Amino acid sequence: MNGPLSQPDTMGASFRLFTSRLYALNSCIVDTPDLVLVVDPGYLPDEIEGIRSYVDEMRQGRPLYLLLTHSDSDHIAGYGAFADATVIASQAFVEHPDREAAVEEVKAIDDDFYIDRPYPLIYPKVDHVIGNDGQQLTVGRTTLQFFQAVGHNRDGLAAWIEPGGLLMPGDYLSDLEFPFVTDSYEAYDETLAKLSAILQSNEGATLIPCHGSITADPAEIDRRIRLSETYLSLVADIASGAQDSAAYGQFVAAHGLRFPHFLRKQHEANLALYRTQK
Ligand SMILES: [Zn+2]
Repeated sequence: MNGPLSQPDTMGASFRLFTSRLYALNSCIVDTPDLVLVVDPGYLPDEIEGIRSYVDEMRQGRPLYLLLTHSDSDHIAGYGAFADATVIASQAFVEHPDREAAVEEVKAIDDDFYIDRPYPLIYPKVDHVIGNDGQQLTVGRTTLQFFQAVGHNRDGLAAWIEPGGLLMPGDYLSDLEFPFVTDSYEAYDETLAKLSAILQSNEGATLIPCHGSITADPAEIDRRIRLSETYLSLVADIASGAQDSAAYGQFVAAHGLRFPHFLRKQHEANLALYRTQK
């Protein structure tokens, strides 16, 4: 884990971030007088153990919630260490068409790296199901408001947390990635518009994406929104022939995106999906 980041908040909320050595996966622990919320605990067993110890030490009798932003393998791998929490996820997460395959994906990665986990790998059991856009969960003075965030995958959920003004978008608005679209381009556009509206109407919001760095800088938030929008138009242009495929390399360079081998694979998958949807 990289050095955890924390940010005290005068409104009585703070958070601490743990970033995994794999995928730069962020696990955020939100701490308010009313509750402790863990978002996507991951990824390696020693990292998850560290997060669990931290939570056990600071919790002091408060209710413990676990938000799973979506069912991708990196986001559910740590569930077993927090199975005692009140688990929050979307209705679509609960209705996953192939839970076994979702768990097998975690097992396959663990096998590749000979990773043993001290808890069984099972598909998360959800206690608090979010079916509606804008649905709220209020505990004392803390409000968690949830938004369907579909497009990257089919069961994403974003959360807006007050006090604190924290936006947990899931796998959107990262500074390490362009949009990875595995579900639907139309849904992705809608999610992006929704997240942009939340960020633009809440001055002082802190954006805490699941991968990469967090930011409260309005200029950086705008840059990330534009990065996503520009990439989605680029895919449309390459597919229609309006831009040639070399424009992708220019986009990656212009936005300072690292990890070109992995990103190239995602880009090819994005293009293939686009051609089936448009
Ligand atoms: Zn994902």
